[in-house]
Amino acid sequence: MEDTEWAALTAHLGEIEILEGIMGVLGWDEQTFMPRKAAGLRGTQQALLSRLSHERLVDPRVGAWLAALEAHPDRDVVQNACARNLGRTYRRERGVSSDLVDRLARARSDGFQAWIEAKKTSNFEVFAPVLQRLVDLSRERAAAIDPSRHPYEVLLEQFDPGTSVESLRSMFARLRAGLVPLIEAIAAAPAQTPLAGPWELERQWALNREVAAGLGYDFEGGRLDASEHPFSTGHGEGDARITAHLTPDDLLSGLGGTIHETGHALYEQGIPRSLLGTTVGEAASFGLHESQSRFWENYIGRSRPFAGWLADRIHTHFPSSRLDADTLFRALNRVERGLIRVKADEVTYNLHVIVRFELELALFEGRLAVKDLPAAWNEKYRTYLGVTPPDDARGVLQDVHWSGAAFGYFPSYTLGNLYAASFGATLEAALPTLWDDVGRGHFGDILAWLRTHVHGVGHRFEAPEIVKNAVGGRDHVEDLLAYLWRRQGAVYGVVRPSGV
Ligand SMILES: [Zn+2]
Repeated sequence: MEDTEWAALTAHLGEIEILEGIMGVLGWDEQTFMPRKAAGLRGTQQALLSRLSHERLVDPRVGAWLAALEAHPDRDVVQNACARNLGRTYRRERGVSSDLVDRLARARSDGFQAWIEAKKTSNFEVFAPVLQRLVDLSRERAAAIDPSRHPYEVLLEQFDPGTSVESLRSMFARLRAGLVPLIEAIAAAPAQTPLAGPWELERQWALNREVAAGLGYDFEGGRLDASEHPFSTGHGEGDARITAHLTPDDLLSGLGGTIHETGHALYEQGIPRSLLGTTVGEAASFGLHESQSRFWENYIGRSRPFAGWLADRIHTHFPSSRLDADTLFRALNRVERGLIRVKADEVTYNLHVIVRFELELALFEGRLAVKDLPAAWNEKYRTYLGVTPPDDARGVLQDVHWSGAAFGYFPSYTLGNLYAASFGATLEAALPTLWDDVGRGHFGDILAWLRTHVHGVGHRFEAPEIVKNAVGGRDHVEDLLAYLWRRQGAVYGVVRPSGV
């Protein structure tokens, strides 16, 4: 490929990234400050940008540039990654007919309406027919993209490229087997009490800002605002925003959300944007993104040294709270078996994900019929978590994802926890002062390590390779189980039996 062709390709792809950045800003605005009456116009604006972006991607010149790039004998590391990333995206977009795209869009829209209604009335039968359509169309889409591969893996690829179904199947099975006894041991120990409120909101915002800045979040390249559900964005250079949902009665869930989104935004703020247009200046996968949020939220943010640092910050903003570090540490690490994924603690959370992964896989391998989902769901909750949903609204209907055909999305949450545990274990060895630093609120060396090994790499390699380069051949399942037993041992006094 000629240098001029490479320059033309990256200029063209750079424009797609800019369009996506604009869509991102509009989406952020929609969830924060947009007046309600602008919803119709906003939909039109986003649809136009989305069409422009799609047309640029499937432009025949992109196919020609891609072929030239793939045939190029001595590509550098960025060009290599571009050939891989662009090749995948381009073939995914081109492989699916516009007719199938339309049918899927209609099914998603029907799916969302049916799911709302089904959840409200707790009646799975309202959702079942359209869910069946969504599964069938997703299978058709997977076959159109690559008929030679496991359909679930093709769907998984849009979130976690480079991760195989087989690796997930084996990691999740081992993790499940290790988590069930931990959760049983915790359930048999005396319960921990949550922190009592209320916590004045203005003071909470100041505290959340101080904690985000303390971790290294650059407020000159981002901002923190309120939204119904916390989220983070990355719109391009100098623009990685976070939001929080703070409530007077629950200090720690609001703060945990902020630390989580800060972790995502630190990743975005650390990606070299000079790579605009190469496909390399982006996060490598959803699972890797989630590893960054969960590393800060859980591994660092629920540790005893962090609780010491945080207790001082809380005392500054709430002088009358008299909260000591030990009480805070125990409250940060409460574990409770529950029905709802989004309310789950860091230990039980993974079982909520594993249930969904196992069911999705069974659906796509034809081992489970849609009509049998509620019974299969309830059975797994009973055996893995020891709880039985009293109705489908608090069971199989609780999450929105399937109504949008987002099959293959859930695993990224637990993949994030697995990667985060190995990052933590590696950092502990590489940085002997790690926990002293955390206790003093010095997070710079930790962030620098993540910048070098994760953020700065961008999408030069696929996520599993980035993780392997960073942590060596570590066993993520063992790292996560060892960490959870150790942390929960300090809170609940549970001891890991040998052989578990
Ligand atoms: Zn997240």
